[in-house]
Amino acid sequence: MSVVRLHELEFEPYLSEGEVLAAVDRVAAEINTHYAGERPLFIGVLNGAFVFAAELFKRLTIECEITFVKVASYHGTSSSGTVTDLIGFNERIEGRHVVVVEDIVDTGNTIVHILELLRDRHPASVRVATLLFKPDAYKHQVPIDHVALSIPNVFVVGMGLDHDGLGRNLRGIHRITSHGK
Ligand code: 5GP
Repeated sequence: MSVVRLHELEFEPYLSEGEVLAAVDRVAAEINTHYAGERPLFIGVLNGAFVFAAELFKRLTIECEITFVKVASYHGTSSSGTVTDLIGFNERIEGRHVVVVEDIVDTGNTIVHILELLRDRHPASVRVATLLFKPDAYKHQVPIDHVALSIPNVFVVGMGLDHDGLGRNLRGIHRITSHGK
């Protein structure tokens, strides 16, 4: 891996594809154990989670299903500032065990709102699996159940994560260089 330029910014190698996939192996093993005998529904959050969702899903040995959802974030007039909607999500999840699959949890605002929207539909349980977690940026109490890798508060791309549309195809995780440009 080498330094890559995406639009106006430079990103340097941070975590190799091998390191990331070893972490995905570990999370998949946790999930296989936790949901043994169940048939959970995995909900991948587009766009960023598609790579992690695929890598995770092919490592699952339990009976399971997967679907995807796109979220729209916009600044509303509510006190929380940002409003998130699930776009075109018509799946019946009542009584189902649900696992939300995210690319990254940063402040946690997005995932916490997604969890609220899903809980309104009365699933049996909801847990979260994320490829990356930034504990120093996280502002909520809700536990993030399955974390592949915790990282410091730096901006990263690769393995599904983008900078303004670019970089999702990078193998491994790259972080922004200190000089940025
Ligand atoms: P939140 O702050 O709500 O947890 O994260 C919101 C969204 O910000 C994430 O779903 C992701 O799209 C984006 N995000 C946060 N940190 C990063 C990062 O380091 N890299 C990229 N590419 N996106 C990020």
